[in-house]
Amino acid sequence: MIYLDNSATTAIDEEVLDAMLPWLRGGYGNASSIHTVGRTARVAIEDARIEIADAMGAHPAELFFTSGGTESNNTVLKSCVHESLLVNRVVVSAIEHHAVLYPAEELKRMGTEVHILPTNSNGEVLSQALAPYNSPTTLVSIMHANNETGVIQNISALRNAVPNALFHTDAVQTFGKIPVDVTQLGVDFLSVSAHKIHGPKGVGGVFVKKGIDFKAHQQGGGQERNRRAGTEPVALIVGFQVAIRKAMLGLKESHAHMVKLRTLLEDLLTSNIPDIRINTPSRIHPEKTLPNILNVSFIDAEQLDGESLIQNMDVMGVAVSNGSACVSGSQQPSHVLVSMGLSNAESKAAIRFSLARTTTKENVVAAATICSEVVRKLRVATRN
Ligand code: PLP
Repeated sequence: MIYLDNSATTAIDEEVLDAMLPWLRGGYGNASSIHTVGRTARVAIEDARIEIADAMGAHPAELFFTSGGTESNNTVLKSCVHESLLVNRVVVSAIEHHAVLYPAEELKRMGTEVHILPTNSNGEVLSQALAPYNSPTTLVSIMHANNETGVIQNISALRNAVPNALFHTDAVQTFGKIPVDVTQLGVDFLSVSAHKIHGPKGVGGVFVKKGIDFKAHQQGGGQERNRRAGTEPVALIVGFQVAIRKAMLGLKESHAHMVKLRTLLEDLLTSNIPDIRINTPSRIHPEKTLPNILNVSFIDAEQLDGESLIQNMDVMGVAVSNGSACVSGSQQPSHVLVSMGLSNAESKAAIRFSLARTTTKENVVAAATICSEVVRKLRVATRN
């Protein structure tokens, strides 16, 4: 199987797994316990916190652990409105992950003023659109890079458009792939997740800028300095630490490797598939895209079924995906591509290729050949 769905999740790194195992075997202590077994776990967690916080330019006290990106995003949005009582208005972009869009919709249903900002045809949120929301009782949430297209937002410019507002960014797709620095970005909150960078599933974190009176959304014990109740999963946190360490050490090298392979993939697809459309602006604005994502659709999308594309590629040994959610058995167009101005048909029949540092040239060449073959067959089938 050629796995090119690394934006959905990545294979766990062997060193990550090795680092985790002792904490699943002997090191099972509860980090809140005051005996030696508990304190050993506490030391491991605090050590991980220092390293993970450092990787985003934060102080360890500014980072608390969660169960992943979904919880991190939900927690920031909901706590800012409900528990922390910091804001009464929320502004998000139309291309956010559903882990931001759905909590925003929920807040709206419960009475909060919510605004959704459009993007341009490159998938960028424009600072001008944000400027009217510059108030200290507004939370702005705009993702660092999009999980379907790989488009990176200019977060520091967007932040500068609303200097008085609170600013959150979902950095789940960027942390460990491009530099993420909370000071440079100028954000108040930032969400991360381990399983996108060869770490374990079920662990993530939230950066909360020093001085913000942030109260737990998930309540119970007083863990994570009263910011997130629940016994900390030591093994997962240690796994996250090793995953980010490896990602940071190899950042430049992995970036260059993936860009090279993505360019090759794009070349092969565009030269072998007529009427293909590249939705990731990787050529025009390479610096504005993640190194590992290439999103494509097809001009004759009306004739192509998005689900069949993915399924046929799977049958032929290539795992890819699209951003369209399947609701009640019927496939919905990707809200991200629709926001960029693509038709509903094109937004349904899209393919997202997402590479990892472990992807090889052979993987990419084989995937491009299989994709060409699948599209050709589906086109012939619909013509007959
Ligand atoms: N935000 C973005 C941009 C994502 O791509 C994802 C995962 O697909 C999430 C949030 C959710 O993260 P997790 O799977 O850790 O809950």
